[in-house]
Amino acid sequence: MTIIQSHQALNDTVIANGYCVGCGACAVPEQSPFRIVMDDYGKYQSRLSSSNVFAKTEIDYEKLCPFGTSTPNEDEIAKQHYGETCEYNTQVGYYKGVYAGHVTEGDFRKQGSSGGMGTWVLNELLEKGLVDYVLHVKSETADQDLNNLPFRYHVSKTLDETQQGGKSRYYPIELSEVLKTVRNQPGRYAVVGLPCFIKSIRLLQAQDSVLAGRIQYCVGLVCGHLKSSHYAESLAWQMSIAPQELQGIDFRIKDPSEPANRYSTYAKDTFGEKIVPTKQLFGADWGAGAFKYKACDFCDDVFAETADVVLGDAWLPEYVQDSYGTNVVVTRKGAIQQLIVNARREGRLELDELGVEKAVQSQDAGLRHRKVAIGYRLHCEKADNSWVPTKRTSPSKSLNPRYEMKRQQLRTELRDLSHRSFLNAKHTNDLSAYIGAVQPVYSHYSRQGHSFLRRLLSFTKRKIKAVVRL
Ligand SMILES: Cc1cc2nc3c(=O)[nH]c(=O)nc-3n(C[C@H](O)[C@H](O)[C@H](O)COP(=O)(O)OP(=O)(O)OC[C@H]3O[C@@H](n4cnc5c(N)ncnc54)[C@H](O)[C@@H]3O)c2cc1C
Ligand code: SF4
Ligand code: SF4
Repeated sequence: MTIIQSHQALNDTVIANGYCVGCGACAVPEQSPFRIVMDDYGKYQSRLSSSNVFAKTEIDYEKLCPFGTSTPNEDEIAKQHYGETCEYNTQVGYYKGVYAGHVTEGDFRKQGSSGGMGTWVLNELLEKGLVDYVLHVKSETADQDLNNLPFRYHVSKTLDETQQGGKSRYYPIELSEVLKTVRNQPGRYAVVGLPCFIKSIRLLQAQDSVLAGRIQYCVGLVCGHLKSSHYAESLAWQMSIAPQELQGIDFRIKDPSEPANRYSTYAKDTFGEKIVPTKQLFGADWGAGAFKYKACDFCDDVFAETADVVLGDAWLPEYVQDSYGTNVVVTRKGAIQQLIVNARREGRLELDELGVEKAVQSQDAGLRHRKVAIGYRLHCEKADNSWVPTKRTSPSKSLNPRYEMKRQQLRTELRDLSHRSFLNAKHTNDLSAYIGAVQPVYSHYSRQGHSFLRRLLSFTKRKIKAVVRL
């Protein structure tokens, strides 16, 4: 494969087979033949523009893509940055400090989805003069309302602008526009992103010395998966706000009377605002994976292994009861570790030393799905003679316990069916076309674990009875 053909190869493998996560990296090089478009399903996707397919370039496009053939994997990239200075864990990647806690100063925690560390780290990098700009996700019209749709990557320069970017936006975003700004505007930048987006930045930096010099800090988010824009629309529609009326959404409203994982969803249209506990909304079971990008089922990076620091939710019994949210924090770069240690000493952060095993436990379900069951999903795709990206885990014919294989098949079905049926619901202006199609599969999926538990229970009862009879 020559570099000249690499754009065609990327198109024929990752994009044609549905593994594009829409990160935007391949659209960043000057004269790139790719552009990022929103598809009918509400996902950003890369498209090879026919007018430019013969563009000559020194760029190897396959090596820019987090799912591209023969790109270095997360371990290989991370080793270059942290191999000498950090310890290593197979689930978390490299790590220096591992904490659980929250921000105590300002409104960071109040305005954040979890403990507020996401916005705080960016803010601290700006305030301490370590960067001039941050690249983060916020509402396109954040000056009017932080929850206004759409959300997208912005370049922010001031502390006020940065603080407009709190909250997890389970919504499609892409990097190409802001990275073009970075190339045109000298300065030192920090970027926050999902694990695959940070990997894309590392891959871009390997081929673009300007981006390598300017992007000095990568802040990662722990990631379960990314949703299409139809996820937001599906939640709002159940709150009686039709897709075309939806103006704003907040996926993570904290409820002071509930544990942190029982948050609510806020949505607004021209007539007003509504807040509903998210658990009451169909399709919000994160494990079932409705509206998930296909790429996410073939990604084995949960802890943003190539980022300088990663922030997530400490989903642990000892923290989840605190409604206001607690972060899990893993540091990898010395300068960020130092910022955190200093702020903790000054009482601006309240952090417990967590230990890497607890960090793993905090993402138990996500890690099992992404780092273990990925082998089975790869096997299923290969069994269909489909192209699959090369992953750190090999394809595997089986999965334990056995019912987990059925669960994986049903998750794949739920993923694909949610995309198709919601598009149909929008076309027919009938929400039940989505819920009616997905509900039976979801019920089947939900019964999988239960039926196993019931079988286990009755097996145990039979054994006990047999022993008692003896
Ligand atoms: C799609 C998605 C999936 C996630 N999955 C998990 C998970 O499975 N487990 C888990 O523990 N945590 C997950 N997180 C992270 C979690 O939701 C919180 O974002 C994280 O704990 C930081 O919260 P905070 O209060 O510290 O940050 P905040 O102060 O709320 O700041 C959040 C930061 O993230 C940025 N941001 C928001 N949305 C996006 C986006 N779509 N892409 C890039 N940057 C964004 C904002 O610009 C801001 O800088 C996910 C986040 C996203 C966006
Ligand atoms: S995942 Fe990113 S780099 Fe790969 S094809 Fe899609 S937009 Fe391009
Ligand atoms: S699951 Fe992986 S591919 Fe999907 S958004 Fe998260 S990091 Fe990217």
